[in-house]
Amino acid sequence: MTRAQLARLRALIDAGQEERFYSWREWKRLSLHVRLRLDNNECQKCKERGKYAPAEIVHHIKHLRDRPDLALSIWDPDTKERQLVSLCRSCHELEHPERLRPACAATAEPLTEERWD
Ligand SMILES: [Zn+2]
Ligand SMILES: [Zn+2]
Repeated sequence: MTRAQLARLRALIDAGQEERFYSWREWKRLSLHVRLRLDNNECQKCKERGKYAPAEIVHHIKHLRDRPDLALSIWDPDTKERQLVSLCRSCHELEHPERLRPACAATAEPLTEERWD
């Protein structure tokens, strides 16, 4: 993410308006790519347990408020593991005990194939 994007995101977090991040074009594009291309539109936690559930949300493993610099990173540069992962709604709720806040927004629905270069 660029320095300008990070500055914009930090300002949203400071203002308590980080949910506006989920309407950014960059996020919509990236989260769609993660969900459809990388994760085959499938919940990755359910998949680990040998179950199938459709993905509904792309979750930030290191939460947006804690690591805004990783908001648009598919991979975590520290652990070399995934930073963005597709989950179903019930798995996602387990990731956020503080569930009064909409910590991750559902990804936008258009299933049109967007080019990702
Ligand atoms: Zn699941
Ligand atoms: Zn989440």
